[in-house]
Amino acid sequence: MSLFWHRRDPRTRDNAGLAAAARDATAADPVVPVFVYDTDLFGTIGARQRAFLFRHVSALQRRYRDLGSDLVVRAGAPADVLSELADEYDAETVFYNEHYRAARRNRQRRVEKRLAAEGVETDGRTDLVLVDPGQLERSYPNHSQFHNDWEAAHKRGPYSEPDSEVLASISDGKVVPEPDVDIDLPPAGYQGARERFDDFLDTGITTYNDTRDDLGRAVEAPTRAVSRLSPYLATGAIGIREVWAGASDVYDAVHGSERRNVGKYRYELSWREQNYHLLYYNPDLAVSNYKSFPNEIAWRDDDAAFQAWVAGETGYPLVDAGMRQLNAEGYLHNRPRQVVASFLTKHLLVDWRRGARYFTKQLIDHDHASNHGGWQWTASTGTDSVDVRIFDPVSQAAKYDEDARYIREYVPELRDVPVGKIIDWPTLSRREREELAPSYSHPIVGRNEGYDRAQRVFEEALGKR
Ligand SMILES: Cc1cc2nc3c(=O)[nH]c(=O)nc-3n(C[C@H](O)[C@H](O)[C@H](O)COP(=O)(O)OP(=O)(O)OC[C@H]3O[C@@H](n4cnc5c(N)ncnc54)[C@H](O)[C@@H]3O)c2cc1C
Repeated sequence: MSLFWHRRDPRTRDNAGLAAAARDATAADPVVPVFVYDTDLFGTIGARQRAFLFRHVSALQRRYRDLGSDLVVRAGAPADVLSELADEYDAETVFYNEHYRAARRNRQRRVEKRLAAEGVETDGRTDLVLVDPGQLERSYPNHSQFHNDWEAAHKRGPYSEPDSEVLASISDGKVVPEPDVDIDLPPAGYQGARERFDDFLDTGITTYNDTRDDLGRAVEAPTRAVSRLSPYLATGAIGIREVWAGASDVYDAVHGSERRNVGKYRYELSWREQNYHLLYYNPDLAVSNYKSFPNEIAWRDDDAAFQAWVAGETGYPLVDAGMRQLNAEGYLHNRPRQVVASFLTKHLLVDWRRGARYFTKQLIDHDHASNHGGWQWTASTGTDSVDVRIFDPVSQAAKYDEDARYIREYVPELRDVPVGKIIDWPTLSRREREELAPSYSHPIVGRNEGYDRAQRVFEEALGKR
């Protein structure tokens, strides 16, 4: 027998480690699928994402039961649980997929050490990414050079689901916990992920490049603007090879501008891969600046400003709409994601680690690599080759939400205000704002004051003043 240890990969399809275990198995020597509920680890992720993940695990358990097997669910430290189960099932090998987050790698090492001492083999596979970070250079000066190498690397197709005869016919009967959650979650499991992806392949992918930043469209019909697949990719409900193959089939079938649009979607996936690559070589990505600065960055310890940002009450309509979307849905479109992160770290000069922690708590698509890579990029402490990038929240709204449909959706106080006045809100006079929407906030920092202060502080940190 062998065990397959499910980690952040609650799926039977396109699962590299599970497929490897199944290849080695026979009906007489089958695979026992296991999920370990590790309380230490689950304490480090937000309650919303934890609840979403548990729903995936329930769906996975149902899938195994349909296949005539079961998912063995146990609570405890993985090294203890897997050692006990290896003994119980007389397993020779424990298979799993590799992870890049330091805490998960340490847990994995403890499992490997413990099992090796007991004469059980371990076999870890690359599953999270299309291209193993170890196959690429250690570091790249910019994203396009990373992309060139990553694009040229071989990418394999999806792994098939194991045949039911190589899965152990067992019955565990454990009930997966269903934690309470404060928001509506999207449909869970592989099925939920696949339906969302099919929707996007049918309605959004061939216009992706042209419409991905159209926030009005994103409000009206989410998968016609972007895929909204990140909650499923971040929790492992769908495999990355399956997503790549789905997009590539469309790419091969279309021409001209449609092909360019699909190409852009495939390109965007390389940002996710670059973040894993960064984390692989920089395990402290979540706590230390990636870039080194000759002087300290003079972050401001401004709790009132941070709380206004959290509540979506900064008086900057696009920032507030973004934060309210995050709070209400556990998801945030990439454009306002960049704008809110830039506003916090530049206009308010609050340390990026504080914003990243809040995102970790709220996001259902929280991904240790992409969240911290994204915050560092936007805070100009990460891989961005521009020294100091500051998003102007007013011109971003004018460009990407020109009809203010996104803003009006999430900031009801502004629904009756004319579009032009919504966009220019931070620059109107106090009297005019009070006449137009007395219940909506005044800007907590001046548009130019915030911009100039951030420019100065970063230039000082860079030793350019
Ligand atoms: C401050 C900040 C924090 C972020 N935190 C996360 C996070 O915790 N989890 C997360 O998945 N993404 C994160 N991102 C990246 C990006 O915002 C989301 O991946 C994207 O908005 C998800 O929506 P979508 O699936 O509809 O994207 P689509 O536009 O449909 O893109 C398709 C897929 O490509 C990947 N992708 C696209 N853009 C990026 C990017 N810039 N970085 C990494 N992957 C990308 C995602 O896997 C996404 O699902 C963050 C970005 C910033 C600026």
